[in-house]
Amino acid sequence: MTILTPTNNTGAANSGLPDEAALNRMASEFFALVPGAAQAATQFLPSFSQGNTPEAPPSARTLVHDSSSAQSKPSVPASGVPQNAGSSIAPSRPQAGGASSSTPYYFVGQEHGYPIADNSLDSLAAQGTGKQSGASAFNVPGQEQLQRILGELYPATSATSAPAQQAGGSATQPAYYFQQGEQDYWDQAPRAANPSLAAPFDINAVRRDFPILAERVDGKQLVWFDNAATTHKPKSVIDRISYFYEHENSNIHRAAHELAARASDAYESARKKLAKFLGAASEQEIIFVRGATEGINLVAQTFGKKFIGAGDEIIVSHLEHHANIVPWQQLAVEKGAVIRVIPVDDSGQVLLDEYRKLLNSKTRLVAVTQVSNALGTIAPVHEITALAHAVGARVLIDGAQAVSHLRVNVQALDADFYVFSGHKVFGPTGIGVVYGKKALLEQLPPWQGGGNMIADVTFEHTRYQPAPARFEAGTGNIADAVGLGAAIDYVERIGLENIALYEHALLEYATHGLKSIPGVRLIGTAHEKASVASFVLARYETAEVGKALNDEGIAVRSGHHCAQPILRRFGVEATVRPSFAFYNTCEEIDRFLAVVRRLANNRK
Ligand code: PMP
Repeated sequence: MTILTPTNNTGAANSGLPDEAALNRMASEFFALVPGAAQAATQFLPSFSQGNTPEAPPSARTLVHDSSSAQSKPSVPASGVPQNAGSSIAPSRPQAGGASSSTPYYFVGQEHGYPIADNSLDSLAAQGTGKQSGASAFNVPGQEQLQRILGELYPATSATSAPAQQAGGSATQPAYYFQQGEQDYWDQAPRAANPSLAAPFDINAVRRDFPILAERVDGKQLVWFDNAATTHKPKSVIDRISYFYEHENSNIHRAAHELAARASDAYESARKKLAKFLGAASEQEIIFVRGATEGINLVAQTFGKKFIGAGDEIIVSHLEHHANIVPWQQLAVEKGAVIRVIPVDDSGQVLLDEYRKLLNSKTRLVAVTQVSNALGTIAPVHEITALAHAVGARVLIDGAQAVSHLRVNVQALDADFYVFSGHKVFGPTGIGVVYGKKALLEQLPPWQGGGNMIADVTFEHTRYQPAPARFEAGTGNIADAVGLGAAIDYVERIGLENIALYEHALLEYATHGLKSIPGVRLIGTAHEKASVASFVLARYETAEVGKALNDEGIAVRSGHHCAQPILRRFGVEATVRPSFAFYNTCEEIDRFLAVVRRLANNRK
């Protein structure tokens, strides 16, 4: 390839290294012109593929660990920008052609010895308000198709509404939204007040942040449409976990030595990030657990055991994942409580009027999902919560499918409990969060006993720590909590508002394509939807569709998605479920639609 011949024109000249900023800019422009060529970037440009802010000076994106320093911390000059002082904290990974290279980063600042990502709005503003030079900002492979489809869907407004039209950082208001109404999460006010939020992201650069997206399956480029099951991890998350084990690993809280301090700082700093991410009033409201499932069980075993008794009622919706059904059933059996279910309409949206009828003075808890994993429905959790509170009931919101797609603010929602899993928001497996209102957590008993959660122990009696330590018995998943903090940094850097807008366009594109294929029946057609396009195809088992897609390297889930009640409500036992994330593209959807169309045309 002779196309990429950068000229040195920045600080990189002194180091004798290629000018990374120029290469990134050229790569973005190059791949913008070659639809579907995003993956080639990781083959040809391994060293320059990680940045999603190509215009930042190389030094701002280079994190290098000074292994010679006494405390093994990166050296940080007065500017706050770690300088090249030794080996990269990231292991070189094998690259195409056997070459390996260190990976550029884009961290600035430092936190507890570990350099933190630059998520500042200033930085975003620099990308989105024309201060940048160079790369077009929304190089979506397939953006022409996207614009065409959006033009058909929104004829009156499409000229200014398609994300591709926002390239160059214009603060054009989108003319379409995920949903309207009280729980509208595409909040125009902050977007209008802060034009930087309108900054779209560079899809090619984003994709290069996720090493696994370069994988091939039987020689075919991997397409990952199983994001509702789990999401992939950006390099910054992978590296953050490695850094923890290489430089900070220790148990927390107890020991009085340097590594214990580093590990404790890293863990507690992640808790702070999560509190901010969820809009909690304090980090004391954030409990680390294994995931959403364990979080719901924690609430059942603490709040449920203390406040739910014989004859009391627990309301769930028909949309729930088994994780938000089974723990309540177990509790109901144990306590003699009753489970009541909010029905949904034929689109898969909960029926608020029916819900109102279920509420009464015996209702103790309403436990609902914010986004359905099987249908994609976004439930009106604002109204659900307000109505529950009006009868004195508490509310648990299962945010497992929500936090990666829409901005959540637990205080605005007035949720009593909110749970989610780290692995569905680009973080590690085995870590998740329970948010609980502080005043409520203080009233709850512990659910597991052991170290870390006690204030004092005698053989006669134990005094417990306040929340959150009271609910974190034993050694927690420290490294993955820290990794989850890095995932939150990443998501915040892209901006949930940008993610929501782009994913909405992907969902519209996929839905439009699926509807045009004879024999496709969409399961879940609510107006308010995120990420998921569940369907069945006439005369095919869902597993057959899944296999045909897998043969082309396209990963979707086919099955009951751990949500049997809602699928049975629609008369099916299983669906094919492509689910999208912000690193997916219209090109990938085209590949997916081509397989479904071929199956439909070759009817058995
Ligand atoms: N709730 C919902 C809506 C989910 O989609 C899932 C995972 N599919 C869960 C709860 C459980 O999450 P985890 O398995 O990570 O605990």
